[in-house]
Amino acid sequence: MKAIVKYGQGPDMVELRDVPEPKIRPGTVMIEVQRAAVCGWDIEMWKHTMANPVKVPVIQGHEFCGVIAEVGDGVRDWQVGDRVACETSAEVCGKCYSCRTGDYQVCPERRGYGYGVDGAFTRYVVARKEILHRIPAGLGFDEASLTEPFCVVHHALSDPVKVIPGDTSVIIGPGPIGIISCQMARLMGAARTVLVGMQNDVNRMSVAKTRNWADFTINVSETDPVKAITEITEGKGADLAIDCAGNTPAFSTALESVRRNGRVVKIGWGPKPFNQSLDVLLRKSLTVYGTFGHNWHNWEAVLGLFTAKRLDPAGLISGVVPLAGWHEAFEKVHSTQAVKMVLAPNQ
Ligand SMILES: [Zn+2]
Ligand SMILES: [Zn+2]
Repeated sequence: MKAIVKYGQGPDMVELRDVPEPKIRPGTVMIEVQRAAVCGWDIEMWKHTMANPVKVPVIQGHEFCGVIAEVGDGVRDWQVGDRVACETSAEVCGKCYSCRTGDYQVCPERRGYGYGVDGAFTRYVVARKEILHRIPAGLGFDEASLTEPFCVVHHALSDPVKVIPGDTSVIIGPGPIGIISCQMARLMGAARTVLVGMQNDVNRMSVAKTRNWADFTINVSETDPVKAITEITEGKGADLAIDCAGNTPAFSTALESVRRNGRVVKIGWGPKPFNQSLDVLLRKSLTVYGTFGHNWHNWEAVLGLFTAKRLDPAGLISGVVPLAGWHEAFEKVHSTQAVKMVLAPNQ
């Protein structure tokens, strides 16, 4: 089968190549991938700028959905033909404290699709039955392939920190996670969402503004974001800042733009060392949260919200292309011309 494989520890060492089909094991199912969305992480693997190491060679892709093509021994609840969205925690130990308390996404032995084990930019993926979710009738594969990034945000904004109705939420970094954060914060009752980005984010910021996910957009190349947020909030500062960019200036803007006793959540990864004083945490009595991944209940919640049309995954999709178009799709995401590109390995 054809697959998009990262084959070396360097930039641009990704290609479409033939690989053997995976083998089904007891307790797993074989999924025929219908759609797999391109993540910022896939671009970082392509350009070799990831914050975390990856094994090579590896088939990329972790945001996916499909149809069950084969059911392994010991799997009773799933049948051939079932439409499924699949979580990214391909392997976990099942025995550690995190696994036993339901937070298996932070299992120290977790290996995720697309960097730790072979992922979904190909025809077939094997998945253990515990990480499957039924795609509700009426929800298409294009939309369902975006469940994962919405779960990242659902987890961040419902487990470590909550949006409180009436909040002014500042979202820094208008990539897909930032734009999804605007949608989620509004859904959770934010009075205002303020999306902060740079000059090369203007296309994505205008998507968020046009669709009313962001009430305000701030281009830091033209406007001082802290000053603008102070004005928008009539001197108070934002209640919550969501750092979806991950670099030092973004984190600094998050800390400076929230009010006293404000909250900051860091979703974005960044390879740069942190090089500023943390005394602002004391001066303003701030709380900073970290977040990682998502687990079972986030998936069920997001699929329900998609089906109820309370979230809008389709609005993020800039194009759907077959596997052979991967390079152009990656390029469009890399250049920020696209918000989300989706690959269709079945075409
Ligand atoms: Zn992703
Ligand atoms: Zn574990």
